[in-house]
Amino acid sequence: MATRGRTPEGRCEVARLLPRPTCGGAPSPPLTSVFPTHFQPNAILKTFLPSKNDGMSQHQKSLYLKLILGLPIPALFQNSPICPCGQQNDGLGCHRIHCRQNAGKAFKPAHEVVVQALKRKHPRTGFRTVDNDNELRANHAHLTSKKRGDLATFSNSDFRFYDSISRLPRPEAIADVKMVSLVNSQGTWTPARSRHKDKIENPGLVQQEQIKINKHAAFYSPIGYAFFSFVVSCFGSFGPTAVRCLFSLADLKLLQHGSFLLDRALTQ
Ligand SMILES: [Zn+2]
Repeated sequence: MATRGRTPEGRCEVARLLPRPTCGGAPSPPLTSVFPTHFQPNAILKTFLPSKNDGMSQHQKSLYLKLILGLPIPALFQNSPICPCGQQNDGLGCHRIHCRQNAGKAFKPAHEVVVQALKRKHPRTGFRTVDNDNELRANHAHLTSKKRGDLATFSNSDFRFYDSISRLPRPEAIADVKMVSLVNSQGTWTPARSRHKDKIENPGLVQQEQIKINKHAAFYSPIGYAFFSFVVSCFGSFGPTAVRCLFSLADLKLLQHGSFLLDRALTQ
């Protein structure tokens, strides 16, 4: 390096390699109007939105986020508080969740999406499943009423389902999926017992689980099945049993993966 600085070419090269001095008058880096935000407290909301092009439109996404965040939703028809179905509309969109001319139609497809998602999770951990209604009716229904759940699952391993009626571990279980809205058409979040019918209106997640258990568990236990209810709200929350089910499947998958790695290490 000492010899390089003796010639003009060498001095140029040394100057290029040396750090450039800056003085106090150096210009500040330019500011832009857009700053990346690394912390997004509401980022979980994105996980509920479809990522494919056939998903929601911008307008639908806007309505969905307003509903989740409890913000006012524009009326379907300006200057009219009445929904096309004839009932009073509300500013927060609670009626539209239930209205059969609006989002109320989505409950059945949403139920099917959850059943299919649950079905897809099971074979990955070594369970066989049946969701065909004819097969469920013929082979996996209540003996007398022929009522049935949404999904029959069969364990091919040591994994067992807990039957809360007989308190026995079972290799076979029936799952029943239920979608709940958690808020009624009038915007009330609390459940209430119906005056005219012997049932709970607008049940919460735990209450809906119990309703399903009352309907199915005592009928399935005598014929050898455990029963569990998988409750999901249209705001994206899960019932406690649904959460435990997903944790159990994830735990089982991890155990299987650990066993696979151990086997591979031992055979190599
Ligand atoms: Zn309506």
